Amino acid sequence: MASALDCIGNTPLVPLDRVARGLPVRVFAKCEHLNPGGSIKDRIARAIVDDAEQRGLLAPGATLIEGTAGNTGVGLALVAAIRGYKLVCVMPEKMSLDKRAALAALGAKVIITPNAPPSQPENFRNVARRMAEENGWFLTEQFSNEANVRAHREGTGREILRQCDGRVGAFVAGAGTGGTISGVGRALKDALPAALVVLADPVGSRLAGWIERGELGPDGAYAVEGIGGSEVPDNLHRAVIDSVESVSDEESFAMVRRLVREEGLLVGGSAGTNVVAALRVAARGGLEGPVVTVLPDSWDRYRAKPWMQAMEQS
Ligand code: PMP
Repeated sequence: MASALDCIGNTPLVPLDRVARGLPVRVFAKCEHLNPGGSIKDRIARAIVDDAEQRGLLAPGATLIEGTAGNTGVGLALVAAIRGYKLVCVMPEKMSLDKRAALAALGAKVIITPNAPPSQPENFRNVARRMAEENGWFLTEQFSNEANVRAHREGTGREILRQCDGRVGAFVAGAGTGGTISGVGRALKDALPAALVVLADPVGSRLAGWIERGELGPDGAYAVEGIGGSEVPDNLHRAVIDSVESVSDEESFAMVRRLVREEGLLVGGSAGTNVVAALRVAARGGLEGPVVTVLPDSWDRYRAKPWMQAMEQS
């Protein structure tokens, strides 16, 4: 092993035999919170930097800039530290203080923007794009960079197929950039055309409407971080998605509590969303194998959040 980057991926797949008790098929969760940076985003950070290096886009000591909800920033900060790059992360103010602190501790420069929609210039992604142009920095652009989907198609997706001995009934995941569901979804459909691919979407996200009717749904507020959204990223491929499960904040956070207390899985809010949706898909039956989902990140970045504090106090 040459560095911590070699610890990325090949994560364990664990059965959720307590929270999924009594269902017609088993439900398995891929422990992406056990990556060295604490999230699934380590995979794409390494893939995006590898790809840019191979294409000759990164001079030694170059600056990377990303508009990020936090986890990709941590992954990029790890890669930047080991490979000798600088990193600037632009994030909206709704993101947790813990994520900001982790990025700063890892040596990244953090720029906070107001919670503005994509149509406004102060939106975090617009700010990142502008700063990249003005300074000649490399925009990692996880929402459209194809290395993101490829990392999941060739990495996460193939690992799941191998760990399930080639039998998967359904795959369930939320979409932030869409990289996970598009990449794993494609890998599964190529190998097992009958496997279902289901989007887990927070109530309040506009993506469910787009998948179901081709039209964005109403915009609402929700507290789960990293998934759902008000516009469709290029890396979200509708063609591989069969259906959607909408999950409320209350259901997601209640499930995180069960995952922690019954399964010993120390995960963040979007893991709750994914598992609620996965249990619904499993309960419906008619599948040719187990349901697989992902636990995208670790609980340690949400310590300051009310839902986490409520869990600590009861
Ligand atoms: N959960 C969390 C906590 C995340 O940060 C992200 C990435 N934004 C996701 C889920 C969704 O992953 P993807 O970007 O691959 O759709």
